[in-house]
Amino acid sequence: MENKPLIYDLDRSALKVLLATWKQPAFRVNQIWEGVYRNLKSAPSEWSNLPGELKTRMTEDSIFQGLTPIDTFLSSDGETVKTLFTTLDGKSVETVLMKYDQRRTLCISTQAGCAMGCVFCATGQMGFSRSLTSGEIVEQVLYYARRLAIDGEHVTNVVVMGMGEPFHNYDNTLAAIDRLNDQSGFNLGARRITISTVGLVPMIRRFASEKRQINLAVSLHAANNDLRSSLLPINKKYPLDELITACREYVDITGRRLTFEWALIQDINDSPQDARQLIKLIRGIICHVNVIPLNPTHEYTGKATPLSRARDFTAELETAGIPCTIRLRRGIDIQAGCGQLAGELQNRHLK
Ligand code: SAH
Ligand code: SF4
Repeated sequence: MENKPLIYDLDRSALKVLLATWKQPAFRVNQIWEGVYRNLKSAPSEWSNLPGELKTRMTEDSIFQGLTPIDTFLSSDGETVKTLFTTLDGKSVETVLMKYDQRRTLCISTQAGCAMGCVFCATGQMGFSRSLTSGEIVEQVLYYARRLAIDGEHVTNVVVMGMGEPFHNYDNTLAAIDRLNDQSGFNLGARRITISTVGLVPMIRRFASEKRQINLAVSLHAANNDLRSSLLPINKKYPLDELITACREYVDITGRRLTFEWALIQDINDSPQDARQLIKLIRGIICHVNVIPLNPTHEYTGKATPLSRARDFTAELETAGIPCTIRLRRGIDIQAGCGQLAGELQNRHLK
């Protein structure tokens, strides 16, 4: 990649350092920060309040576009929009916007590809390319924020559930979130952000110790080690007993409710018996369970559980007093599942 800094990679103090090397007065930091994060400017030419020579310097010696949108897809109901970007070094990254009532929820990516290899996941099937920088994570949000602003709307929620494992790119992911939280800038509250992890136990512990207001979701999908290891290979490294212990600690330390995710796969993890095993496993944890019928992918033969059977599954949980929701697959006609578009692109390139 080029040596010039991507503006969105810089936190306020790094921006200050950059501007100092350009011999700019300190107050320019605020002008640029507010321009990028509050007024959503996307290029130096859009600042009317900066001297021409600084705008030239910004254009020549820094980067305002690290992600190039190469394709955008709209679901047939118009409620889901997906953009496929390429990074400066040619990696594919996807971001999805979901409109639901007044909510404008963005699903963002933290890595190009993923090293965790979950068998049913399109991103896992692609393999790992690299982690995104904090700026590349931030820029996905800014891109959609600018698009929404045209209609007088804004990003209300962010879920870190796109491509990649956020806790395998912990520092950059959290730095990106810090930048989005900044009250004098983008000002997106931590409570409006959810990070989903496949279950990297040491990072769950670290995250708990930081006592942030960000929501945490853990991808469970199976309540016994044999099945979970066959679906999520990382389970061999961090088996269920360790994972659940870390989840209990998280709730104890933070006092926050945890979300468990469960992709319902027909005849694999969707029986009432599976539900009862899950109930036993998570009993006593303050949590919410999201069940999502599987989004079919090329390299996995499993099928989505029919809705009626999904209801039987959640009925078991409800009877046991565990709050749960069936999440419908949004934007299935535009391959809005995790990593599906980039996977398609990679397959096309391979052919
Ligand atoms: N790496 C993180 C976050 C990205 S995946 C994680 O695994 O949690 C976001 C969620 O989508 C996870 O719960 C993941 O298990 C789920 N997922 C991946 N592929 C899916 C598919 N084909 N159908 C349904 N859910 C899927
Ligand atoms: Fe990676 Fe999450 Fe996909 Fe697993 S489900 S391969 S952790 S992105």
